[in-house]
Amino acid sequence: MTHDHDRDLHPETRAVHPPVITPSGSRPLGVPIYQSHIFAFDGAAEMAAAFEGPDSAYLYGRWSNPTVRALEDAVADLEGGAAALASASGMGTINAVLTALLRSGDHVIAQSCLYGGTFALLADLARRWDVEVTYVSGNDPAEVRDALRPRTRLLVLETIANPTTQVADLPALIAVAREAGVTTMVDNTFAPILCRPLEHGADIVVHSATKYLGGHGDILGGVAVFARSPGASSQEENVLHHRVWKRATELGATADPFAAWLTLRGLATLPLRIERASRTALDLAQRLAAHPAVTHVAHPGLPGHPQHDLARRLLPGGGGAVLSFEPAGGREAGRIFTDSVRLASLAASLGDASTLVMHPASTSHRQLDAAALAAAQIGEGTVRIAVGLEHPDDLWADFERALAKAT
Ligand SMILES: *Cc1c(COP(=O)(O)O)cnc(C)c1O
Repeated sequence: MTHDHDRDLHPETRAVHPPVITPSGSRPLGVPIYQSHIFAFDGAAEMAAAFEGPDSAYLYGRWSNPTVRALEDAVADLEGGAAALASASGMGTINAVLTALLRSGDHVIAQSCLYGGTFALLADLARRWDVEVTYVSGNDPAEVRDALRPRTRLLVLETIANPTTQVADLPALIAVAREAGVTTMVDNTFAPILCRPLEHGADIVVHSATKYLGGHGDILGGVAVFARSPGASSQEENVLHHRVWKRATELGATADPFAAWLTLRGLATLPLRIERASRTALDLAQRLAAHPAVTHVAHPGLPGHPQHDLARRLLPGGGGAVLSFEPAGGREAGRIFTDSVRLASLAASLGDASTLVMHPASTSHRQLDAAALAAAQIGEGTVRIAVGLEHPDDLWADFERALAKAT
Protein backbone atom coordinates (compact mmCIF):
# COMPACT_ATOMS: atom_id res chain seq x y z
CA MET A 1 0.00 0.00 0.00
CA THR A 2 1.33 3.47 -0.81
CA HIS A 3 0.76 6.57 1.21
CA ASP A 4 -0.66 9.82 0.15
CA HIS A 5 1.69 12.28 1.84
CA ASP A 6 -0.44 15.20 0.81
CA ARG A 7 -2.97 14.02 3.31
CA ASP A 8 -2.99 15.70 6.62
CA LEU A 9 -1.07 13.03 8.63
CA HIS A 10 0.39 13.61 12.05
CA PRO A 11 4.20 13.48 12.57
CA GLU A 12 3.96 10.16 14.47
CA THR A 13 2.20 8.57 11.50
CA ARG A 14 4.54 10.13 8.92
CA ALA A 15 7.53 8.85 10.92
CA VAL A 16 6.27 5.26 10.67
CA HIS A 17 5.21 5.56 7.00
CA PRO A 18 7.95 7.41 5.10
CA PRO A 19 7.66 7.73 1.32
CA VAL A 20 8.48 4.44 -0.41
CA ILE A 21 11.61 4.66 -2.57
CA THR A 22 11.72 2.66 -5.79
CA PRO A 23 14.83 2.95 -8.00
CA SER A 24 14.14 4.57 -11.35
CA GLY A 25 16.43 5.15 -14.32
CA SER A 26 19.19 3.00 -12.81
CA ARG A 27 19.58 -0.02 -10.55
CA PRO A 28 21.91 -0.88 -7.67
CA LEU A 29 24.85 -2.93 -8.98
CA GLY A 30 25.22 -4.79 -5.70
CA VAL A 31 22.47 -6.79 -4.02
CA PRO A 32 20.78 -4.58 -1.42
CA ILE A 33 20.47 -5.81 2.17
CA TYR A 34 16.73 -6.25 2.66
CA GLN A 35 16.82 -5.75 6.40
CA SER A 36 13.12 -6.49 6.66
CA HIS A 37 11.42 -9.66 7.80
CA ILE A 38 7.92 -8.41 7.06
CA PHE A 39 6.50 -8.25 3.53
CA ALA A 40 3.18 -6.57 2.75
CA PHE A 41 0.59 -7.78 0.22
CA ASP A 42 -2.15 -6.13 -1.78
CA GLY A 43 -4.68 -8.87 -1.03
CA ALA A 44 -5.35 -12.00 1.03
CA ALA A 45 -5.26 -14.25 -2.06
CA GLU A 46 -1.68 -13.20 -2.87
CA MET A 47 -0.73 -13.60 0.77
CA ALA A 48 -2.27 -17.07 0.99
CA ALA A 49 -0.25 -18.19 -2.06
CA ALA A 50 2.95 -17.06 -0.34
CA PHE A 51 2.52 -19.72 2.35
CA GLU A 52 2.91 -22.47 -0.25
CA GLY A 53 6.64 -22.92 -0.72
CA PRO A 54 10.18 -21.61 -1.06
CA ASP A 55 9.57 -20.10 -4.52
CA SER A 56 6.46 -18.11 -3.57
CA ALA A 57 6.35 -14.39 -2.84
CA TYR A 58 8.24 -13.14 0.23
CA LEU A 59 6.05 -13.51 3.29
CA TYR A 60 8.05 -13.46 6.50
CA GLY A 61 11.78 -13.53 7.15
CA ARG A 62 11.87 -17.08 8.52
CA TRP A 63 10.39 -18.28 5.19
CA SER A 64 12.63 -16.24 2.88
CA ASN A 65 14.13 -12.84 2.17
CA PRO A 66 15.32 -11.24 -1.12
CA THR A 67 18.97 -10.91 0.01
CA VAL A 68 18.95 -14.50 1.24
CA ARG A 69 17.33 -15.61 -2.05
CA ALA A 70 20.09 -13.84 -3.99
CA LEU A 71 22.68 -15.86 -2.05
CA GLU A 72 20.73 -19.09 -2.63
CA ASP A 73 20.54 -18.45 -6.37
CA ALA A 74 24.25 -17.60 -6.55
CA VAL A 75 25.36 -20.78 -4.73
CA ALA A 76 22.90 -22.94 -6.71
CA ASP A 77 24.44 -21.52 -9.87
CA LEU A 78 28.04 -22.16 -8.74
CA GLU A 79 27.22 -25.76 -7.76
CA GLY A 80 25.14 -26.40 -10.90
CA GLY A 81 21.95 -27.06 -8.92
CA ALA A 82 18.27 -26.26 -9.44
CA ALA A 83 17.68 -24.49 -6.12
CA ALA A 84 19.33 -23.76 -2.80
CA LEU A 85 18.41 -23.06 0.78
CA ALA A 86 20.52 -20.85 3.05
CA SER A 87 20.59 -21.30 6.81
CA ALA A 88 22.03 -19.66 9.89
CA SER A 89 24.98 -22.09 10.04
CA GLY A 90 26.37 -25.20 8.39
CA MET A 91 24.92 -27.29 11.20
CA GLY A 92 21.55 -25.57 10.71
CA THR A 93 21.63 -26.70 7.09
CA ILE A 94 22.73 -30.26 7.89
CA ASN A 95 20.12 -30.51 10.66
CA ALA A 96 17.39 -29.34 8.28
CA VAL A 97 18.40 -31.88 5.60
CA LEU A 98 18.76 -34.86 7.93
CA THR A 99 15.61 -34.25 9.94
CA ALA A 100 13.58 -33.44 6.80
CA LEU A 101 14.53 -36.67 5.08
CA LEU A 102 14.74 -39.17 7.97
CA ARG A 103 12.03 -40.83 9.99
CA SER A 104 12.20 -43.03 13.03
CA GLY A 105 13.71 -46.41 12.13
CA ASP A 106 15.39 -45.24 8.90
CA HIS A 107 18.92 -46.27 8.00
CA VAL A 108 21.81 -44.02 6.98
CA ILE A 109 25.15 -44.92 5.41
CA ALA A 110 27.82 -42.37 6.32
CA GLN A 111 31.53 -41.87 5.95
CA SER A 112 33.40 -42.64 9.17
CA CYS A 113 35.50 -39.45 9.06
CA LEU A 114 32.49 -37.08 9.21
CA TYR A 115 32.70 -33.53 10.59
CA GLY A 116 32.28 -33.77 14.38
CA GLY A 117 28.97 -31.86 14.43
CA THR A 118 27.40 -34.13 11.80
CA PHE A 119 28.69 -37.21 13.61
CA ALA A 120 27.19 -35.95 16.90
CA LEU A 121 23.86 -35.18 15.18
CA LEU A 122 23.65 -38.70 13.69
CA ALA A 123 24.47 -40.19 17.11
CA ASP A 124 21.69 -38.06 18.60
CA LEU A 125 19.19 -39.12 15.92
CA ALA A 126 20.15 -42.74 16.61
CA ARG A 127 19.22 -42.31 20.30
CA ARG A 128 16.14 -40.16 19.74
CA TRP A 129 14.56 -41.65 16.62
CA ASP A 130 16.23 -45.07 16.36
CA VAL A 131 17.91 -43.96 13.15
CA GLU A 132 20.52 -46.61 12.37
CA VAL A 133 23.87 -45.60 10.93
CA THR A 134 26.42 -47.78 9.14
CA TYR A 135 29.83 -46.19 8.74
CA VAL A 136 31.93 -46.81 5.63
CA SER A 137 35.43 -45.73 4.60
CA GLY A 138 34.33 -43.56 1.68
CA ASN A 139 36.60 -45.27 -0.85
CA ASP A 140 34.96 -48.61 -1.53
CA PRO A 141 31.59 -48.84 -3.34
CA ALA A 142 31.28 -52.49 -2.24
CA GLU A 143 31.05 -51.30 1.38
CA VAL A 144 28.06 -49.12 0.46
CA ARG A 145 26.43 -51.96 -1.48
CA ASP A 146 26.89 -54.33 1.48
CA ALA A 147 25.48 -51.75 3.89
CA LEU A 148 22.23 -51.17 1.93
CA ARG A 149 19.00 -52.16 3.66
CA PRO A 150 15.32 -51.79 2.75
CA ARG A 151 15.10 -48.67 4.93
CA THR A 152 18.32 -47.01 3.78
CA ARG A 153 17.32 -43.43 2.98
CA LEU A 154 20.52 -41.43 2.90
CA LEU A 155 24.20 -41.66 1.98
CA VAL A 156 26.28 -38.96 3.72
CA LEU A 157 29.73 -38.12 2.31
CA GLU A 158 32.36 -35.37 2.53
CA THR A 159 34.42 -34.45 -0.53
CA ILE A 160 37.58 -33.90 1.55
CA ALA A 161 37.66 -35.05 5.16
CA ASN A 162 39.14 -33.28 8.15
CA PRO A 163 41.98 -33.45 9.19
CA THR A 164 43.04 -36.52 7.20
CA THR A 165 42.38 -34.85 3.80
CA GLN A 166 40.89 -38.18 2.69
CA VAL A 167 39.10 -37.74 -0.66
CA ALA A 168 35.81 -39.64 -1.02
CA ASP A 169 35.22 -41.57 -4.22
CA LEU A 170 32.05 -39.61 -4.94
CA PRO A 171 31.25 -41.01 -8.43
CA ALA A 172 31.59 -44.67 -7.42
CA LEU A 173 29.76 -44.38 -4.08
CA ILE A 174 26.96 -42.19 -5.37
CA ALA A 175 26.36 -44.57 -8.30
CA VAL A 176 25.58 -47.38 -5.82
CA ALA A 177 23.18 -45.13 -3.90
CA ARG A 178 21.41 -43.95 -7.06
CA GLU A 179 20.89 -47.49 -8.27
CA ALA A 180 19.24 -48.32 -4.94
CA GLY A 181 17.11 -45.15 -4.92
CA VAL A 182 19.00 -43.73 -1.92
CA THR A 183 19.47 -39.94 -1.68
CA THR A 184 23.07 -38.71 -1.37
CA MET A 185 24.12 -35.62 0.59
CA VAL A 186 27.71 -34.43 0.09
CA ASP A 187 29.32 -31.93 2.47
CA ASN A 188 31.48 -29.91 0.05
CA THR A 189 32.68 -27.36 2.62
CA PHE A 190 36.38 -28.18 1.97
CA ALA A 191 36.15 -28.07 -1.84
CA PRO A 192 33.89 -25.32 -3.21
CA ILE A 193 34.62 -24.54 -6.90
CA LEU A 194 37.22 -27.36 -6.90
CA CYS A 195 34.51 -30.04 -7.00
CA ARG A 196 30.84 -29.95 -8.02
CA PRO A 197 29.34 -33.08 -6.42
CA LEU A 198 26.00 -32.68 -8.26
CA GLU A 199 27.89 -33.45 -11.48
CA HIS A 200 28.88 -36.76 -9.91
CA GLY A 201 25.28 -37.66 -9.16
CA ALA A 202 24.76 -36.22 -5.66
CA ASP A 203 21.21 -35.07 -4.85
CA ILE A 204 22.11 -32.48 -2.22
CA VAL A 205 25.34 -30.54 -1.61
CA VAL A 206 25.81 -28.74 1.70
CA HIS A 207 28.30 -26.09 2.74
CA SER A 208 29.29 -24.44 5.95
CA ALA A 209 29.32 -20.94 4.41
CA THR A 210 31.16 -19.90 7.58
CA LYS A 211 34.29 -21.27 5.91
CA TYR A 212 35.27 -20.58 2.25
CA LEU A 213 32.01 -19.10 0.90
CA GLY A 214 32.06 -16.26 3.42
CA GLY A 215 35.85 -16.45 3.49
CA HIS A 216 36.63 -13.77 6.07
CA GLY A 217 35.75 -15.31 9.41
CA ASP A 218 32.96 -12.78 10.02
CA ILE A 219 29.74 -14.72 9.44
CA LEU A 220 28.07 -17.99 10.35
CA GLY A 221 26.08 -19.57 7.56
CA GLY A 222 25.13 -22.71 5.69
CA VAL A 223 23.72 -23.53 2.26
CA ALA A 224 22.14 -26.66 0.80
CA VAL A 225 21.95 -27.00 -3.00
CA PHE A 226 19.49 -29.37 -4.66
CA ALA A 227 20.06 -31.20 -7.94
CA ARG A 228 18.26 -30.53 -11.15
CA SER A 229 16.84 -33.93 -12.04
CA PRO A 230 16.99 -34.61 -15.77
CA GLY A 231 13.58 -34.78 -17.41
CA ALA A 232 11.66 -33.86 -14.27
CA SER A 233 8.98 -31.19 -14.38
CA SER A 234 9.83 -28.12 -12.33
CA GLN A 235 7.32 -29.27 -9.72
CA GLU A 236 9.02 -32.66 -9.30
CA GLU A 237 12.58 -31.42 -9.34
CA ASN A 238 11.95 -29.27 -6.30
CA VAL A 239 10.58 -31.98 -4.01
CA LEU A 240 13.76 -32.24 -1.93
CA HIS A 241 14.14 -28.47 -1.82
CA HIS A 242 10.54 -28.08 -0.71
CA ARG A 243 10.82 -30.68 2.06
CA VAL A 244 14.06 -29.30 3.45
CA TRP A 245 12.79 -25.70 3.20
CA LYS A 246 9.67 -26.66 5.16
CA ARG A 247 11.77 -28.32 7.86
CA ALA A 248 14.15 -25.34 8.00
CA THR A 249 11.27 -22.93 8.57
CA GLU A 250 10.08 -25.17 11.43
CA LEU A 251 13.57 -25.32 12.94
CA GLY A 252 14.01 -21.58 12.59
CA ALA A 253 17.57 -22.07 11.37
CA THR A 254 17.05 -19.31 8.82
CA ALA A 255 19.80 -17.15 7.32
CA ASP A 256 20.08 -13.54 8.41
CA PRO A 257 20.03 -11.03 5.50
CA PHE A 258 23.21 -9.28 6.64
CA ALA A 259 25.11 -12.57 6.93
CA ALA A 260 23.72 -13.55 3.52
CA TRP A 261 24.94 -10.26 2.08
CA LEU A 262 28.46 -10.73 3.48
CA THR A 263 28.48 -14.26 2.10
CA LEU A 264 27.46 -12.94 -1.34
CA ARG A 265 30.37 -10.51 -1.15
CA GLY A 266 32.65 -13.42 -0.26
CA LEU A 267 31.45 -15.39 -3.29
CA ALA A 268 32.82 -12.74 -5.65
CA THR A 269 36.39 -13.73 -4.73
CA LEU A 270 35.74 -17.40 -3.87
CA PRO A 271 37.26 -18.92 -7.05
CA LEU A 272 40.39 -16.76 -6.72
CA ARG A 273 40.76 -17.42 -2.98
CA ILE A 274 40.28 -21.18 -3.11
CA GLU A 275 42.59 -21.55 -6.11
CA ARG A 276 45.37 -19.53 -4.45
CA ALA A 277 45.02 -21.07 -0.98
CA SER A 278 44.94 -24.54 -2.51
CA ARG A 279 48.17 -23.84 -4.45
CA THR A 280 49.87 -22.45 -1.33
CA ALA A 281 48.74 -25.51 0.66
CA LEU A 282 50.37 -27.87 -1.84
CA ASP A 283 53.55 -25.77 -1.83
CA LEU A 284 53.74 -25.87 1.99
CA ALA A 285 52.91 -29.59 2.01
CA GLN A 286 55.86 -30.24 -0.32
CA ARG A 287 58.21 -28.16 1.86
CA LEU A 288 57.00 -29.91 5.03
CA ALA A 289 57.44 -33.33 3.39
CA ALA A 290 61.08 -32.47 2.72
CA HIS A 291 61.72 -31.22 6.29
CA PRO A 292 63.77 -33.58 8.51
CA ALA A 293 61.58 -32.92 11.59
CA VAL A 294 58.36 -34.01 9.83
CA THR A 295 57.42 -37.69 9.59
CA HIS A 296 54.19 -37.50 7.55
CA VAL A 297 52.26 -34.95 5.48
CA ALA A 298 48.72 -35.31 4.12
CA HIS A 299 47.47 -33.26 1.16
CA PRO A 300 45.58 -34.69 -1.83
CA GLY A 301 48.06 -33.02 -4.21
CA LEU A 302 51.04 -35.03 -2.91
CA PRO A 303 51.85 -38.09 -5.06
CA GLY A 304 52.06 -40.26 -1.89
CA HIS A 305 48.49 -39.40 -0.80
CA PRO A 306 46.33 -42.56 -0.77
CA GLN A 307 43.71 -40.96 -3.08
CA HIS A 308 46.10 -38.89 -5.17
CA ASP A 309 44.87 -40.33 -8.50
CA LEU A 310 41.23 -39.89 -7.49
CA ALA A 311 41.99 -36.32 -6.39
CA ARG A 312 43.49 -35.52 -9.78
CA ARG A 313 40.21 -36.61 -11.43
CA LEU A 314 37.79 -35.21 -8.85
CA LEU A 315 39.67 -32.01 -7.92
CA PRO A 316 41.53 -30.98 -11.09
CA GLY A 317 41.76 -27.36 -9.91
CA GLY A 318 43.63 -28.24 -6.71
CA GLY A 319 43.45 -30.52 -3.68
CA GLY A 320 42.06 -27.94 -1.27
CA ALA A 321 43.59 -25.52 1.21
CA VAL A 322 43.78 -27.84 4.22
CA LEU A 323 46.78 -30.03 4.97
CA SER A 324 47.93 -31.93 8.01
CA PHE A 325 51.32 -33.15 9.13
CA GLU A 326 52.96 -35.18 11.86
CA PRO A 327 56.04 -33.66 13.50
CA ALA A 328 58.82 -35.90 14.81
CA GLY A 329 58.33 -35.83 18.59
CA GLY A 330 54.61 -36.73 18.56
CA ARG A 331 52.03 -35.18 20.86
CA GLU A 332 54.24 -32.62 22.61
CA ALA A 333 55.77 -31.48 19.33
CA GLY A 334 52.32 -30.97 17.79
CA ARG A 335 51.16 -28.89 20.73
CA ILE A 336 54.35 -26.80 20.88
CA PHE A 337 54.17 -26.16 17.11
CA THR A 338 50.64 -24.71 17.33
CA ASP A 339 51.61 -22.71 20.44
CA SER A 340 54.67 -21.30 18.65
CA VAL A 341 53.36 -20.01 15.32
CA ARG A 342 53.24 -16.22 15.13
CA LEU A 343 51.85 -15.39 11.67
CA ALA A 344 49.36 -18.25 11.63
CA SER A 345 46.79 -18.35 14.44
CA LEU A 346 45.76 -21.18 16.73
CA ALA A 347 42.04 -21.31 15.87
CA ALA A 348 39.30 -23.87 15.25
CA SER A 349 37.93 -22.79 11.89
CA LEU A 350 39.12 -22.83 8.28
CA GLY A 351 38.47 -20.96 5.05
CA ASP A 352 39.65 -17.65 6.48
CA ALA A 353 41.88 -15.12 4.72
CA SER A 354 44.51 -15.80 7.39
CA THR A 355 46.10 -19.18 8.07
CA LEU A 356 44.80 -21.17 11.04
CA VAL A 357 46.48 -24.09 12.79
CA MET A 358 45.21 -26.63 15.28
CA HIS A 359 46.47 -29.65 17.22
CA PRO A 360 43.41 -31.98 17.34
CA ALA A 361 44.78 -34.40 19.98
CA SER A 362 45.03 -31.66 22.63
CA THR A 363 41.96 -29.60 21.56
CA SER A 364 39.04 -30.76 19.36
CA HIS A 365 39.73 -34.48 19.89
CA ARG A 366 41.08 -34.27 23.47
CA GLN A 367 38.58 -36.87 24.79
CA LEU A 368 39.97 -39.56 22.47
CA ASP A 369 42.71 -41.86 23.76
CA ALA A 370 45.54 -43.05 21.50
CA ALA A 371 43.51 -46.00 20.16
CA ALA A 372 40.44 -43.86 19.37
CA LEU A 373 42.66 -41.27 17.69
CA ALA A 374 44.24 -43.99 15.58
CA ALA A 375 40.77 -45.27 14.62
CA ALA A 376 39.93 -41.73 13.47
CA GLN A 377 43.21 -41.75 11.53
CA ILE A 378 44.54 -38.84 13.58
CA GLY A 379 48.08 -39.03 14.93
CA GLU A 380 48.90 -37.83 18.46
CA GLY A 381 51.09 -35.13 16.97
CA THR A 382 48.93 -34.33 13.94
CA VAL A 383 48.72 -30.62 13.18
CA ARG A 384 46.00 -29.31 10.87
CA ILE A 385 46.77 -26.27 8.79
CA ALA A 386 43.94 -24.36 7.10
CA VAL A 387 45.94 -22.27 4.66
CA GLY A 388 44.91 -18.67 4.02
CA LEU A 389 45.97 -16.03 1.55
CA GLU A 390 49.39 -14.99 2.91
CA HIS A 391 52.51 -15.36 0.77
CA PRO A 392 53.81 -18.94 1.02
CA ASP A 393 57.36 -17.82 1.89
CA ASP A 394 56.14 -15.88 4.93
CA LEU A 395 54.10 -18.85 6.13
CA TRP A 396 57.04 -21.18 5.58
CA ALA A 397 59.33 -18.93 7.66
CA ASP A 398 56.73 -19.06 10.46
CA PHE A 399 56.43 -22.87 10.25
CA GLU A 400 60.22 -23.39 10.16
CA ARG A 401 60.58 -21.30 13.33
CA ALA A 402 57.76 -23.19 15.08
CA LEU A 403 59.18 -26.56 13.96
CA ALA A 404 62.59 -25.65 15.36
CA LYS A 405 60.97 -24.99 18.75
CA ALA A 406 58.84 -28.12 18.62
CA THR A 407 61.46 -30.71 17.70
C1 LIG B 1 32.39 -26.12 10.02
C2 LIG B 1 31.82 -27.29 9.31
C3 LIG B 1 30.47 -27.63 9.45
C4 LIG B 1 29.53 -26.88 10.38
O1 LIG B 1 29.34 -25.57 9.95
P1 LIG B 1 28.94 -24.37 10.97
O2 LIG B 1 28.80 -23.22 10.05
O3 LIG B 1 30.04 -24.27 11.97
O4 LIG B 1 27.66 -24.77 11.62
C5 LIG B 1 29.99 -28.70 8.73
N1 LIG B 1 30.79 -29.42 7.92
C6 LIG B 1 32.10 -29.14 7.77
C7 LIG B 1 32.94 -29.98 6.88
C8 LIG B 1 32.66 -28.07 8.47
O5 LIG B 1 33.96 -27.78 8.34
